[in-house]
Amino acid sequence: MTGNEFAGRVRSDPDEPTPPDAASAFLGDEAGNAAYEDAIDRAREHLVESFATATDPYEGTDHETLRERIDDLAVFPDEGDSLESVLETVADEVLGDSVRVHDPGCIAHLHCPPAIPALAAELLLSGTNQSMDSFDQAPAASVLEERVVDACCALFGYPAGADGVFTGGGTASNFLGLLLARDWYCETEFDRTVQTDGLPPEASDLRVLCSDAAHFTAEQAAHHLGLGEDAVVTVPTDSDRRIDLVALDETLERLEADGRHPFALIGTAGTTDFGSIDPLRALADRAADQGLWFHVDAAYGGACAISDRLRSKLTGIDCADSIAVDFHKLFYQPISCGAFLLRDGDKYRFLERNAAYLNPERDDAAGVPNLVSKSTQTTRRFDALKPFVTFNALGRAGVADCVEYVCELADAVADEIRAEPALELCCEPELSAVVFRYRSDRLTRASEAGGRDAGDEPATPPVDRVNRAIRDELLADGEVVLARTEVDGTAALKFTLLNPKTTVSNLREALDSIVDRGEALEREVIDSA
Ligand SMILES: *Cc1c(COP(=O)(O)O)cnc(C)c1O
Repeated sequence: MTGNEFAGRVRSDPDEPTPPDAASAFLGDEAGNAAYEDAIDRAREHLVESFATATDPYEGTDHETLRERIDDLAVFPDEGDSLESVLETVADEVLGDSVRVHDPGCIAHLHCPPAIPALAAELLLSGTNQSMDSFDQAPAASVLEERVVDACCALFGYPAGADGVFTGGGTASNFLGLLLARDWYCETEFDRTVQTDGLPPEASDLRVLCSDAAHFTAEQAAHHLGLGEDAVVTVPTDSDRRIDLVALDETLERLEADGRHPFALIGTAGTTDFGSIDPLRALADRAADQGLWFHVDAAYGGACAISDRLRSKLTGIDCADSIAVDFHKLFYQPISCGAFLLRDGDKYRFLERNAAYLNPERDDAAGVPNLVSKSTQTTRRFDALKPFVTFNALGRAGVADCVEYVCELADAVADEIRAEPALELCCEPELSAVVFRYRSDRLTRASEAGGRDAGDEPATPPVDRVNRAIRDELLADGEVVLARTEVDGTAALKFTLLNPKTTVSNLREALDSIVDRGEALEREVIDSA
């Protein structure tokens, strides 16, 4: 049915509702197509202009100024304005004060510059607005997502019968992994169907194990699953920030002696701070021995799977019961784009749900792909299109070259840091994250001396104050968008390298700025003490 068919009809009832003026803002006829092209062209021009005129990764505007300015903008004005003028406002007030993820100085987070093919795909998936919960809202999209998920399962060495789903990211994928793990364990161990009957009486003894460098979403998921954050037992890491297997064995023995029920072991393939990768094969063996669900959080490091050179870092991942992979990190996809992979697709039975209005049981019998039953989301974006377009445009080897390059860049920048006496490398890079701090003998002495602040509390050590201020100043000047973290209780700085256009000389410049600021701040901090 098209708009034109309506237009040709003779109206018989003068009281019949007629489309409002604002219907011109919708596709569906020639005028709509033209309005769409005009709108997208304008948006695209603003974007390209903002990329072309920017010189730094950020303008440096602070949050108070942004609040004041943005508070002045109307959100629900009674009358609209031309799209042209609205987009101009957005360009002035929002685009200009966005962090520029394409800038070589934007190196704080696992926050990638999106690949251009994926941006084209993003336009297609939002324009068609397919919803992945049921086949009748996303016919080809549902089948293509299944195809992409199958290819991902094969990439990680999963056998036939594996399954999965696209998610909003690692948070959602880790949650889904622990949800299935909990329900599987309660069925196997306590003959309890959590979906209908809720948690068993033993729930307060359920435990999840992961390293102390694992992502906070393990704890968050335990909370959301009704187990409480204290159900997560963290195991110390070694000097390379990988889970310590001896400590893991001790922890498992202790839990058993205490009558606890560990049900899941999380291995991290690429910790957020260090990029460190747990010994996955050894963890898989422990999990098999102890009857634990083995979940691998490969949100960051999963990208190694596409590289012939880096793949061996993930050895053992094929033994995981479930895997979280983020495409919006080291796979260069615009947010959001993640996947959850499940080694034995039959375990999706723990999520089974049929609604007469969405995915009736007779569809299941006929093999209709209503993907709602694989997800904790209902309405869901067709994000699988983005890696499909990107990989077909650049080739697996093309994307792998980018991943390998940023890992090499991390090694090169680590060499620069080791050669600079005013900097201290906190850990050898494993992927593309480099953690370090500004240091000097004087600062170390001043920090060891301790001291009390005005309220007689232990004062923040000068080394922490200097390193935090380096990051804050560089952000406020918009020069480098740098990450902050803590290593063994002391402030540290971090580069997370994802941009395949960044060069060693860009990073050398950033290190020079850090050292310059560090020297100036050290004088200020120590002299004021
Ligand atoms: C980023 C990250 C997450 C969270 O993923 P989101 O995509 O931000 O939801 C989980 N685990 C690790 C290791 C991560 O780096």
